[in-house]
Amino acid sequence: MNVSALSEWMIAYVSITLAAVLLCAVYSDIRRRRFEPKETDDHVFRCSDCAFVYTDDPTVDRARCPQCGCMNDKFNF
Ligand SMILES: [Zn+2]
Repeated sequence: MNVSALSEWMIAYVSITLAAVLLCAVYSDIRRRRFEPKETDDHVFRCSDCAFVYTDDPTVDRARCPQCGCMNDKFNF
């Protein structure tokens, strides 16, 4: 096997790996949107005291941390 054939194999290998990773990402994204629509509606909270991340109903603006009981505002990404 000469050098150019080796580099062609490497390009093919990298392309296939990237395509597989991309397909996995798209597939898991579709799965998540289809099967977990409620989780995206929930507000995400991050405790300012103990840094614990948790979710609560979208109707509440403030929620109590289940770890330390501290009240926290909605966390915006
Ligand atoms: Zn906390």
